[in-house]
Amino acid sequence: QGRLQGKTVLITAAAQGIGRASALACAAEGARVIATDINQAFLDSLAAEHSSIQVELLDVRNDAAVAALAARTPALDALFNCAGMVANGSLLDCTEADWDLSFDLNVKSMFRMTRAFLPAMLAKAETTGGSVSIINMASMASSIKGFANRAAYGATKAAVIGLTKSLAADFVKAGLRANALCPGTVDTPSLRGRIASAADPVQAEKDFIARQPMGRLATVDDITPMVVYLASDESRFVTGQTMLVDGGVTI
Ligand code: NAD
Repeated sequence: QGRLQGKTVLITAAAQGIGRASALACAAEGARVIATDINQAFLDSLAAEHSSIQVELLDVRNDAAVAALAARTPALDALFNCAGMVANGSLLDCTEADWDLSFDLNVKSMFRMTRAFLPAMLAKAETTGGSVSIINMASMASSIKGFANRAAYGATKAAVIGLTKSLAADFVKAGLRANALCPGTVDTPSLRGRIASAADPVQAEKDFIARQPMGRLATVDDITPMVVYLASDESRFVTGQTMLVDGGVTI
């Protein structure tokens, strides 16, 4: 019996990186997974990897698309809002367009997704007497710790933590648990892109590794056990928390 047997879990930005690995980890634990992203080709290859993974094209910046998907999706047990981006640079480097895009993709997407999916989740919690779970992707780079060149990013991820704690406070008696996932530096396609676009990519990779006290980058599979835990009933007494999986950065 898998740890997520009988549960339905929806994940945004699930075509690559942490979202994709989380879809596979949840499916391996028996969940029915609805994996969403804007990259249809990568979604198709994900669907081919596990029969319990259903894929849906979804741009989390599109209100109508989010509402339409919610309307035709059965009530979720867990929603993992994973979509997010890094706008590199200090506040003085950050254009208004970068700032607005960062907040729309990293934070307002969670407002859209939660407003669309939470009512049916709460109804399910009431019917079953169990809890439902929202997992919001934050970062150690947030209100937890400041990093150079992460002005817009750190602000958005701090906002994610505030939003998550508010949700936890508002709906704790209604059976919702809401927690923020705060990874360290994870080896994903977007991190590889940030390394490749640095002036000196070799040095950039060394610098990313150097800020991790354990001396290495996280792999996506260092992060997915926390996703499975938060989606499962094992975390039934855990809500409103910032779950750091950071290889010791915030010791
Ligand atoms: P990634 O950046 O490599 O992949 C992102 C995925 O998001 C892609 O599949 C892309 O198609 C999808 N996407 C982009 N715009 C979208 C949209 N509008 N709607 C839906 N999907 C969209 O993945 P990653 O590095 O694993 O990052 C995932 C999340 O984890 C992000 O929120 C990121 O901030 C967070 N995070 C990453 C790290 C890290 O070091 N990689 C650390 C902490 C937090």
